[in-house]
Amino acid sequence: MKKHNFSAGPCILPQEVFKEASQAVLNYNDSGLSIIEISHRSKDFVDIMEEARSLALELLGLEGKGYKALFLQGGASTQFLMAAYNLLQTKAGYINTGSWSDKAIKEAKLFGEVAEIASSKDSNFNYIPKGYEIPTDLDYLHCTSNNTIFGTQIKEFPSSNAPLVCDMSSDIFSRQLDFSKFSLIYAGAQKNMGPAGTTLVVIKEDILGKVERQIPSMLDYKVHLGKASMFNTPPVFAVYTSMLTLRWLKKLGGVAAIEELNEKKAKLIYSEIDLNPLFKGFAATEDRSNMNATFTLVNEDLKETFDTMCKETGINGVNGHRSVGGYRASMYNAMTMESVAALVDIMGDLERKA
Ligand SMILES: *Cc1c(COP(=O)(O)O)cnc(C)c1O
Repeated sequence: MKKHNFSAGPCILPQEVFKEASQAVLNYNDSGLSIIEISHRSKDFVDIMEEARSLALELLGLEGKGYKALFLQGGASTQFLMAAYNLLQTKAGYINTGSWSDKAIKEAKLFGEVAEIASSKDSNFNYIPKGYEIPTDLDYLHCTSNNTIFGTQIKEFPSSNAPLVCDMSSDIFSRQLDFSKFSLIYAGAQKNMGPAGTTLVVIKEDILGKVERQIPSMLDYKVHLGKASMFNTPPVFAVYTSMLTLRWLKKLGGVAAIEELNEKKAKLIYSEIDLNPLFKGFAATEDRSNMNATFTLVNEDLKETFDTMCKETGINGVNGHRSVGGYRASMYNAMTMESVAALVDIMGDLERKA
């Protein structure tokens, strides 16, 4: 039985993408070769890389606006340091909305002064700080659009005269935003775009070249841009599968279409969390994420019963992160309304049983 996969990452992908990617592993495009055994310099793979890069820009509405897309390795975690390596000359501002921001801050501190200009640490990151002042002497301002662990999401982004850098690992391509507000966007593929192994970096080229330090080639955005994201062997399977997911998204109607579905899914689960007296939401209502819904049982004694019900219904990956506890339902782009309804149904069943 195919499970309802609520895992936070690596995540669910469209079934048709799994099928096409598996086929390509056996025989890519009837070439008699596997996608993972052909040269990354072959026309077949160069075309895949170029399609992936241009689909990413197209879906974000950033074509012809001075942006380039890269598919790199090392995960979003490498971007924590790479962003600072390339952009931090004197001082950067960071908004701390959870463990991932915290890690980004730690890395940036290796390169210069870091001003933590707002934080929700005082309340275990269950809300998005607002109304803070932004210094005017920043090399860049960094934020995390969606806090995968805590289930909060920035709805209104800060505006600053400094370039805005954003970790969009867990909500990239999930909602419409004016992406041209951002100068650097990065996202590990495995939350909403593809398998683990590649990281999308979307960069406005004019922000580069402003730091004085020497940058090692593999960590230099300019080097990767100069080689069209092929400086070294790219993670071919991860890029290919991400490209298939982006094609799927485009065919569906792009970010506008998926946003509508994502809002419906989120509404369904949050109304159950709000109305069902056995459950309690973790994140502040106005900051709740449409990607990761975090909630707990009011009475922990019901945990075993509810976990058994999840198992019997084929619901997978709903355990909360250890720093929050309870449950987390991740509802990335490829998750269907039916899967969310299956979870909401057993939440209702538990109430009727208890
Ligand atoms: C998962 C996640 C990361 C870490 O990504 P890796 O690719 O594992 O390095 C960073 N930021 C956010 C918001 C995430 O959800």
